[in-house]
Amino acid sequence: MTGPPPCFSIAKRAANVFDQLIARAEQESVPRAELVGNLRRALAAQKEWRERRRLVDRGSLLGATLNHVRTHVPFYRSALREHRGKDAEQMWQALPLIDKTTVVGDFHRFLSEQTLSSEIFERETSGTLGTKARLRYDLPAWFDCGPYAYESLCSSAFSLRRAIRSGEAAIVNIMNYPTRADTTYILPNLGLAFSRTRQLARGETRDFALVEELRETQPALIASKPSCFLRLAELDAQLSGRRIRPKAIMSSAECLHPDQRLTIEQAFACPIYNTYASTEGGVIARECDHHRGLHLSSMFVQLHVIPDGRDDVPSAAVLGEEGALKEEGSGELVLTNLVNWATPLLKYRTGDWATLRRAKCPCGYEGISIFDLRGKEAQSFSVRGMELSPSAVSQAIAAFPIKAHQVIAAGDELRLRFEPKHASGNEQALKMDIHAALRERFPDVPFVVEATEWLPAPEHKVVRYHVLPQP
Ligand SMILES: [Zn+2]
Repeated sequence: MTGPPPCFSIAKRAANVFDQLIARAEQESVPRAELVGNLRRALAAQKEWRERRRLVDRGSLLGATLNHVRTHVPFYRSALREHRGKDAEQMWQALPLIDKTTVVGDFHRFLSEQTLSSEIFERETSGTLGTKARLRYDLPAWFDCGPYAYESLCSSAFSLRRAIRSGEAAIVNIMNYPTRADTTYILPNLGLAFSRTRQLARGETRDFALVEELRETQPALIASKPSCFLRLAELDAQLSGRRIRPKAIMSSAECLHPDQRLTIEQAFACPIYNTYASTEGGVIARECDHHRGLHLSSMFVQLHVIPDGRDDVPSAAVLGEEGALKEEGSGELVLTNLVNWATPLLKYRTGDWATLRRAKCPCGYEGISIFDLRGKEAQSFSVRGMELSPSAVSQAIAAFPIKAHQVIAAGDELRLRFEPKHASGNEQALKMDIHAALRERFPDVPFVVEATEWLPAPEHKVVRYHVLPQP
């Protein structure tokens, strides 16, 4: 027999990987203890996520979730009080539709009294009524919308998968919460590659430092929202030297408009994969290499649609209240999140509009995909009985030196906020010219025009955040 026994070489390899990880960890901005804690958490999350996936494999996820919620979640306990002894399908039929107002107004009753997970996270939603809900997430939910979402994207984006290597900062998630600390996770499901979070909008010096860091490390995947990508592209273009060149970009949180997609892809010279993700549902759907709709990517999340009457798709199963929910069609999306048992949200009206359709994709996916995701903001504004589309407003002001603008419906008038392309000190004149152009194009619509130095991303999607393409 030649060479060491197999078990010895496996142990030696594991020790080598661990040594490498620790050496790499020294270069991270987070303390080593935190990094080790994060690895432990990721491993526990993977284990719990796999246990919940076994329910999917056995076809018993819906029944198990309903049993959990009617025992441990006050809102569902009272909603299902009359339905003891019924099977999962009957209980599902009996569930009421809920929406953000229901949850924000009464969020304590949506929290599970018993946590089956070894750890719980809290995350705040944007409150529509001034109240914010602190939703809780268990480890399987955290794993599903983080590490598993990355793994799922890699499974169909092959060039990306090849570029993700153990012990390297392969994924960077960029957010714009300046006060949050940077952190690093080791992903057990992606060959122990690192995933970092970094914050933008910490002031010019630190933002440029982030650009330098990204150029230095050249992560395989950058995940963020469109408004952050546009800001990052702008900063990157201002510095000389090698540009940020990821293998792929994962976009979420805001609607990705076609002009933004083009600008971002050109700026970073890589494909962009749009996702449909939310605080309530995690990463629900994503594009594949063929960009034919957003395929449902979480095996735990169900989407249905409340048809808006313009439905041209022959619908499959009819479910729920008086046949209101359908598996295919166009209308408002309704979410059922079966992975997060800490704040279970079932039959949750998202307020997002799209078309759900079963379609074969060359990537092999044959299930339901989301097409024509409009979000709330693509619906036209209704002012004094008149309908006005956001893109018509964009066209009317396209010739002005504007970097970005928002249109907000405020009672009987529309408020247009814009960020000038150059700080000329002549905003007053620009404001008046824009106002005149809008009045000429839409004589009956009352507009208020405001200049601002920096347009924040919208907290909720009723605001159209539009960045005009570079001339
Ligand atoms: Zn596909």
